[in-house]
Amino acid sequence: ALTMVWLRDDLRVADNPALLAAAERGDVVVCYLLDEESEGLRPLGGASRWWLHHSLSSLGDSLEALGIPLVLRAGRSEDVIEQLVQESGADAVFWNRRYGYAERTIDAGIKASLTEAGVEVHSFQANLLHEPWTIVTGSGQPYRVFTPFWNACRSASEPRPPLPAPHILGGPQLTSESFKEWGFLPTKPDWAGGLREAWTPGEPTGQRLLAEFLDGTISGYADARELPNVEGTSRLSPHLRFGEVSPFQVWHSAEHSRNPAISRDVTVFGNEIGWREFCWQLQYHNPNLATENYRPQFNAFPWHEPAPEELDAWRYGRTGYPLIDAGMRQLWHTGWMHNRVRMAVASFLVKNMMVDWRIGEQWFWDTLVDADPANNAANWQWVAGSGADAAPYFRIFNPVTQSKKFDADGGYLRRWVPELRAAENVHEPWKGDADGYPARLVDLKESRAQALTAYRELRSR
Ligand code: FAD
Repeated sequence: ALTMVWLRDDLRVADNPALLAAAERGDVVVCYLLDEESEGLRPLGGASRWWLHHSLSSLGDSLEALGIPLVLRAGRSEDVIEQLVQESGADAVFWNRRYGYAERTIDAGIKASLTEAGVEVHSFQANLLHEPWTIVTGSGQPYRVFTPFWNACRSASEPRPPLPAPHILGGPQLTSESFKEWGFLPTKPDWAGGLREAWTPGEPTGQRLLAEFLDGTISGYADARELPNVEGTSRLSPHLRFGEVSPFQVWHSAEHSRNPAISRDVTVFGNEIGWREFCWQLQYHNPNLATENYRPQFNAFPWHEPAPEELDAWRYGRTGYPLIDAGMRQLWHTGWMHNRVRMAVASFLVKNMMVDWRIGEQWFWDTLVDADPANNAANWQWVAGSGADAAPYFRIFNPVTQSKKFDADGGYLRRWVPELRAAENVHEPWKGDADGYPARLVDLKESRAQALTAYRELRSR
């Protein structure tokens, strides 16, 4: 028997049910496709493409070590899979399920045509702890609010333990394209220097980060996760996004490390994994989560059309508000931003600048190494107030109060905004001397009042 395994957002050899089941059946061909042709697939952003390049390279090494190459091809998924089945003579095709609408439609079409041609097709659960269609309310509806959703997950059956990697793999040598020719890396200008410094994509590093996190950082996570200048979170997000680390591995190793001293930390960390599940079930039930307001009354919201220089001030961290600028520069430089700061910069764009959340979502999509179709869209909608479980409309993060509270000594601000290193008042540089630091883009009080009026009007509709 020869099984073809089609990898997508599951670029790992351990806890990969499709790969393990294929190895148990006999010979294996493992492929990854670059599909820029099928309808409805969202093209990856720049930082994600950078990550993918290195992740494929690492995956290729892991598969070589097990005995087979990674076969790369570009084209329409349906055509390429058919072609590869013919070339290899595979009698079965296995994959791990994905949950986006366009992706599911493509997979269903391929499954139907392969089955008709007598090829066995199996899909597996690998990327979410709970299949989105299994967690529903008493009346069979999807949940709209996180806490009851997560309670329902917690009382559903315990997620299965993670699976081992196959010991050895055998199979035919098929020709492969080279990911190096897919043009995922920047040429001129090379903007990826900060990414290279900050990250090593791939399964081995993801697994090491997980182990290190559970050995150390998780102790104190519940509080330290709020502090942007402390390495208090796992930084697993891009590894989870590309499936180099699986939620089953995270869940079980976190639960395993539970001891009374860090019980609260493990629970709070588990909740964050729960938010990932929640965002994906929203995405599953709302295919247009990244492009349409979940709450349709927001279609009438009076967004401000920003001038290019206003938008650039936000994008590149020149708003004159230290926390916003530090966050946006951290993002631009490293492809990642601390969660608390993500909330603050998103609130600033949407509420103080009154710019449509979709513009911010797209910028994050392009610049985050963890840009995730569900997590990004759902969190932007949460901040904007247009989402399912949304922040109350009157919650407008004040960047000054936030940095005083969560970065009291200004270490994060000074790290990312060099103009402020010598500033007397790092939280409110306009009160002192801060040479070369931009003037404030908006007045916080005035813009807040404006936003509140607009949100109130929307509510009374
Ligand atoms: P940890 O605190 O260690 O959390 C562990 C894991 O839980 C994360 O890796 C992530 O997979 C998941 N998680 C944590 N917080 C959330 C959350 N609020 N929603 C969903 N999952 C969560 N996360 C992404 O993975 N991709 C995105 O594109 C993304 N866009 C965001 C946009 C905005 C406006 C906001 C406010 C948040 C966004 N997040 C996104 C959520 C969160 O900021 C990141 O997951 C987190 O900062 C990643 O760092 P970490 O792995 O160290 O997190």
